[in-house]
Amino acid sequence: MEYFNLAILDCHCAKGARRFAYMQKWGEILQKIFIVEDEDHIRKMVSYALTMAGFEAEGFMDGEALWQALATACPALILLDIMLPGQDGLSILKALRQSKAYAKIPVILLTAKGAEYDRINGLDLGADDYITKPFSVMEAISRIKAVLRRSGGEPLQASEIQIAGIRLHKDRRTVYAGEQEVGLTYKEFELLQYLMINEGIVLSRDKLLEQIWGFDYNGESRTVDMHIKSLRQKLGDEGGAIKTVRNIGYKIGG
Ligand code: CA
Repeated sequence: MEYFNLAILDCHCAKGARRFAYMQKWGEILQKIFIVEDEDHIRKMVSYALTMAGFEAEGFMDGEALWQALATACPALILLDIMLPGQDGLSILKALRQSKAYAKIPVILLTAKGAEYDRINGLDLGADDYITKPFSVMEAISRIKAVLRRSGGEPLQASEIQIAGIRLHKDRRTVYAGEQEVGLTYKEFELLQYLMINEGIVLSRDKLLEQIWGFDYNGESRTVDMHIKSLRQKLGDEGGAIKTVRNIGYKIGG
């Protein structure tokens, strides 16, 4: 069991994505694979097998945990179970494909035996492949390798996001408003990045607090307002792209 625990440790994935979302560990370059599966034994078994096959594996119980991880790390591929508590796998896939930042991350679905409708639906929604349960870990690994080969060369996640005149580069952690580079604090950058990834979506102050400051943060929603104010000022003419949505929170673009 110790091995299993090791396999799903968080390994400081590089923020943002390079080509293939490689990460550096002990001098080796490993590809990071996310596994979203609520059944512990499957998640741990696949994580362990992937680690043994030379990948970096990180497991998540549900969509919520996946979205949180995606805000700071980009996997080379996501192995996504359809039957999940909360947001189901197909909804997650749809949201990934519709998002600017994650649309190109390859996704392999885990589907139940006989669930043909799910498979067809999944492929229509942009899944790269599917694996039918029960499956052998060797099969899963060879499918993963095949999808990674096919998707090779494509940038898996846009490392630069642009909305109106604001350009944010995740890897370089730079922000430009028009031609002007803008110096942001760590939290301001995280806040702007999160708003931009969720372009057009209204985000409540509580949601922003939770995402940027963490669950345990004891601050007030005023903290968000103060950071937004500072962001707008620093972005100058482009600051107007961040819209206040009365009684709810903020959004950018859309
Ligand atoms: Ca499941």
